[in-house]
Amino acid sequence: MRRVSVFGATGSIGQNTIDLIARAPDAYRVVALTGGQNIAQLASDARRLNAEIAVTADVDRLDDLRDALAGSGVEAAAGAAALAEAACRPADWVMSAIVGAAGLVPGLKALEQGATLALANKETLVAAGPLALRTAQANGGTIIPVDSEHSAVFQALTGEDRRAVERVTLTASGGAFRDWPMQKLRSATPEEAATHPTWDMGQRITIDSASMFNKALEVIEAKELFHLAADQIEVLIHPESCVHALVGFTDGAIMAHLGVHDMRHAIGYALHWPERRDLPVDRLDLAALGRLTFRAPEADRYPALGLAYRVIARGGLAGAAFNAAKERALDAFIARRIGFMDMAEVVARVLDRLDAAPVPIDAPFELDNIVAIDHLARCEADRVMAQRQQ
Ligand code: NDP
Ligand code: MG
Repeated sequence: MRRVSVFGATGSIGQNTIDLIARAPDAYRVVALTGGQNIAQLASDARRLNAEIAVTADVDRLDDLRDALAGSGVEAAAGAAALAEAACRPADWVMSAIVGAAGLVPGLKALEQGATLALANKETLVAAGPLALRTAQANGGTIIPVDSEHSAVFQALTGEDRRAVERVTLTASGGAFRDWPMQKLRSATPEEAATHPTWDMGQRITIDSASMFNKALEVIEAKELFHLAADQIEVLIHPESCVHALVGFTDGAIMAHLGVHDMRHAIGYALHWPERRDLPVDRLDLAALGRLTFRAPEADRYPALGLAYRVIARGGLAGAAFNAAKERALDAFIARRIGFMDMAEVVARVLDRLDAAPVPIDAPFELDNIVAIDHLARCEADRVMAQRQQ
């Protein structure tokens, strides 16, 4: 039996992962399931799958979790240290689907114990790419991307000569506002931004899709995962969201990966890798679809995208700063303290300040340095936003 753990089990990716695992109960032994506020879901899945341990990120919810698990034989724990400890428990396959920077340490711990890490959490590669890759290599761990675009590139590259890769194209739906007039974007609300035209995902990533901060994170992820230069990564708006990514080779061939919008494909691919097994996803009906369209994104509509290329050019720990500033700006947008288009402005100002200040942005890729830059960028983002309100 394969030992599996799911970090972020109560979220959109986590629930899709559990759906696949629960279909083959004899094939898996569930080690750890983790969540945040959704104690009822966490406890019911931990009972149903007979997990060894269930962990909530929130220490104040430990008693609730204990009550919900009473008599089940499932251990209960809470807090960041308990999440890290759960990631140290031997497992063959670990899903990393916590949202935000909180997903970084559990992912690194899983790699340290040599697990296959199915990586949905974007921040791991954006903030700590070289550290995550180094940790995997040193301990026999493997990273299999779950983000649909990166899974698509990974699949298109399987069996190919990586030296012959010329260009990788990531597609983007364009998000909720792709056809809105520019002047209306400034007053867009969090509810409007959280409605995705094609994919069904968590609130934060859906808003990040509307602003293309999501695609910006993915550009940086692609650079780290596939060792690409900035000018080898292209983004195209593809409203039908059927082609998830394309890989262009030096002989002129382009390999595209197509599929329906169902994350269980990428999750299932990572779960069964290196094999391909049947998955309960719909099949794409190209004749019914009729045509696929592509266009270049407009720089002024999606300023976040330009920031990703700036981060790659800056190098060092700029990715960690970018991600942290983005998380603070997104918090402020959700709380209606700043507008939709202000998010990219805030992040750009934080990058300006960190570029100019004598901060250790060029410090080595160690966890302490990443945590320090993350903290600093959050403080800078708060300062920038406070100054804007004066
Ligand atoms: P959700 O918001 O649906 O779920 C997030 C999960 O993380 C939940 O289990 C949540 O718990 C938990 N969580 C929230 N805050 C913390 C914290 N501080 N510490 C520990 N756990 C926490 O997100 P998604 O499933 O949509 O996305 C998960 C990750 O995967 C993100 O990084 C996202 O960018 C990435 N991703 C998602 C895709 C998708 O289709 N959804 C596609 C590609 C990548 P609870 O809900 O119980 O509070
Ligand atoms: Mg994606």
